[in-house]
Parts: sequence; structure tokens; C-alpha cells
Amino acid sequence: KQRDPDQPEFHQAVEEVLRSLWPFLEANPHYLEAGIVERIVEPERAVLFRVPWVDDAGKVQVNRGFRVQMNSAIGPYKGGLRFHPSVNLSVLKFLAFEQTLKNSLTSLPMGGGKGGADFDPKGKSDAEVMRFCQSFMSELYRHIGADLDVPAGDIGVGGREIGYMFGQYKRLANEFSSVLTGKGLSYGGSLIRPEATGYGCVYFAEEMLKTRGRSFDGQRVAISGSGNVAQYAARKVMDLGGTVISFSDSEGTLHAESGFSEQQWQDVMALKNQQRGRIRELEGSGLRFQAGQRPWSLACDIALPCATQNELNLEDARTLLGNGCVCVAEGANMPTTLDAVDLFIEHGTLFAPGKASNAGGVAVSGLEMSQNAMRLHWSEGEVDEKLHGIMQSIHNACVRHGESDGQVNYVKGANIAGFVKVADAMLAQGVV
Ligand code: NDP
Repeated sequence: KQRDPDQPEFHQAVEEVLRSLWPFLEANPHYLEAGIVERIVEPERAVLFRVPWVDDAGKVQVNRGFRVQMNSAIGPYKGGLRFHPSVNLSVLKFLAFEQTLKNSLTSLPMGGGKGGADFDPKGKSDAEVMRFCQSFMSELYRHIGADLDVPAGDIGVGGREIGYMFGQYKRLANEFSSVLTGKGLSYGGSLIRPEATGYGCVYFAEEMLKTRGRSFDGQRVAISGSGNVAQYAARKVMDLGGTVISFSDSEGTLHAESGFSEQQWQDVMALKNQQRGRIRELEGSGLRFQAGQRPWSLACDIALPCATQNELNLEDARTLLGNGCVCVAEGANMPTTLDAVDLFIEHGTLFAPGKASNAGGVAVSGLEMSQNAMRLHWSEGEVDEKLHGIMQSIHNACVRHGESDGQVNYVKGANIAGFVKVADAMLAQGVV
């Protein structure tokens, strides 16, 4: 904290991990003696660069670009790019740190990284987004590569942005390689990648519910966000017989008292992905918009926070528990504040930390890299089956490392399981 006093999100992420890891580290002092903790919290490399571009009015705009290459002990750096005005070094170091443990949990050979820019794609024309992406990649391309660092999407970076960045990389590097994941199907993308994080989150929650003899069938599910993760988490909940009662965005919550219908889910998809509109525009026919509200005051059995960090605080957690919520699975990264996590754990709520429950996205990104390397394409069924298997095995790893007195602490389980593989690889590779 003294070295980086202005990085609260990064401190929060490290504190969450070290608090639950500490008894394990004391019982296994060789990790402490080898300085693994000091090393694992320090990025191997971080680059920061100017991204100049010209807007539609002909005016020069300047944004700040970043790539944090956190840890390459078990594979090339891997992690998304975020375009959002709130992006800074603290947010990206927190995300890259979490990503390192998450990627380890998937059991695939991927190190951890994260990047992005403080650019806001909202309200920009397609041409502006393309010029920004091209300028961003003009610098980033020299720091990444199929065997070095393989970025993907995150908030504000979807299929359109990945396409523009891939095109620019290909032009500059003069090669067609697996340097980005989340690519379109026509140029090397994997089936199920858009669905993977949302589906994976629901598969993970399903495993947790099974431990209590429950399922999604007939359950009321509150979802925050209305982007990539929220959309496909909702899809899978509906497929499993659950009732989705909310979507949200930074302006407020859209509440469906009797659940979103099939058509209303399609409308959310069209609004967010094609029209790039705001969720309030769908108000009407059973859908009520609550300006400035998050979904956590709605009575639900299961909550899936799928928007952004620190969007579910202690007060929200109390309200959820008071309303009978039994399961919270994070689709977003660190959406739950530390005190709220503590309350859920004390209360015996089934609580899944994002590094476990949202690992499906990066897992399928890993599968996209495998398909690219083999130059073949797996079917939707094959990828979905592998994704499902990976989420089940992450769940099992969390149970193995997090169970005591018949209760599973998924936070502790995920942190230990993710840490051990990275730390052992670092030990084997010496002081680097
Ligand atoms: P999208 O950009 O597709 O959607 C983000 C959603 O969250 C939008 O509804 C957005 O609303 C909302 N949101 C973003 N910032 C805020 C904010 N500060 N306050 C309130 N709402 C906000 O992103 P994704 O769905 O891809 O990502 C969502 C979360 O999931 C992030 O935490 C991301 O890191 C995490 N994640 C994503 C993965 C993926 O594969 N995409 C993989 C693993 C984790 P608005 O439009 O108003 O900004």
C-alpha cells in the first residue's frame, strides 16, 4: 500500500486473496521463504502508452492505453482488454492479478494479464471505434503475440472491437496468428465463446446448488448488467427452468416481476448488441425501469452480479439475505465488496468468487487457441461439453481446497487451488 497508495482496487483484490490464503501459507512456509507472495503481486511488466485518434468532427482525441503482463509462470499472458472511462493502472492490476489465479484454475496453460484504455465506446460511431482500435493496436502489437500474450474482450470490447484490432495486428505484424481470442467465426473464432462466461457462471452455480439438493428450476434469479456476461447467464438460467427477473446498466434496473419472456430476452439482445441502446428503452409490457437502482432489493433465490466491480455492497448483501437469497455467483470480476463477501460466508450462503465462476470465458478462449494451433474447428456441442466439464472441475477443486466442517468456503478453495499451480511453477523456475 505504501508503494502504490493510489491503487485501491488492486489492494482490495490482493487483500481478499491473501486473507484466505494466509493459513495455507503458514502451513506451507516454503512459499513464503521463496518470496512467492512478494513476486506474485508485482507485474512482470506493465506498459502504458498514448492512443491518439481523430473523431468524426476532425478533432484529435487522446486516450491512455495499458497492458499489464502479470505472470507467465504457467503459460503466455492471457486476459481481456477493457475500454471504459474508469480504466486505470489500479483496476487493471487487480484484474490481471485475479486473472492469474483464474487462468490457473481452468487447468489450461495460460498466464495472467489484462489491458485496455480509458476510452468510452458509448456514443461513438463505428468509424470512430475503428480508428481508436487501430491506433490502440498500433502500439500494443509490439508487446503481444500468439506465444507471448493473447488478449481478449472485456467491458466495452466485444466482437466488433476484436475484429478491428485483429485486422490492424495482422497488417502490422504481417502474419495471421492466434494473437487475440473472441474472434469472429469467419476468421478463427470459437463457437460458444460469446456464451462462455455467462453459461459457465450458471454451470458453476448449478454445481453449488446440487450440493444442497437444489437446482435452477423454478428459481427467481436477479442478474445485474446487460452486456455479454449478463445476456448469456440469463439465457442459460432460462434454459434450466429459472425465471430471470432483472437486467441493469449504469443508469438503473429493468425489473420483470413475472420474469423475462423469450421475446423480451431477444429484445435485450437486439437492443444491446445491434442498436447499442440503453436498457430503460425496453420499459413497458410487464417491464419496469427503476432509475439509479441496482437489482439487489428485488426478492430472489439466486443473484448473479454480471456488470462490474464493487456493485454489491454490505447493505445489498443484507437485503438479499433478508429476502431469502441462497446463492450468489459472480459473473463479473470482484462485484462483491469484501465486507459483503464476509457476510455471505458467515451466513452459509453459497457464494462463488468470480475467479472460479466466471472462468468459463477464458477457458473457451484457451480452447480457441487450441483450435487455432491445430487449425481445426470444434462443433458447438463439443465446446459446450468441454466448458461444462471445466466448470465442474473448477467446482471440484474449490470443494477440495475449501471444505471444512462440512461447509465449503469457495473463496478459500479457489484462491488455494489457483495459487498452488502458479507458485509451484514459479518455484521450479527459480528466482525470475
Ligand atoms: P459488457 O461491456 O458487455 O457489459 C458490461 C455491463 O455492465 C453493461 O450492462 C454495463 O452497463 C454494465 N456496467 C459497466 N460498468 C458499470 C458501472 N461502472 N456501473 C454500473 N454498470 C456498469 O461487459 P462484459 O459483460 O463482458 O463484462 C461484465 C463483467 O464480467 C466485467 O466485470 C468483466 O470483467 C467480467 N468478465 C467478462 C468476461 C467475458 O468473457 N466477457 C470474462 C470474465 C469476466 P453500461 O452500458 O451502462 O456501462
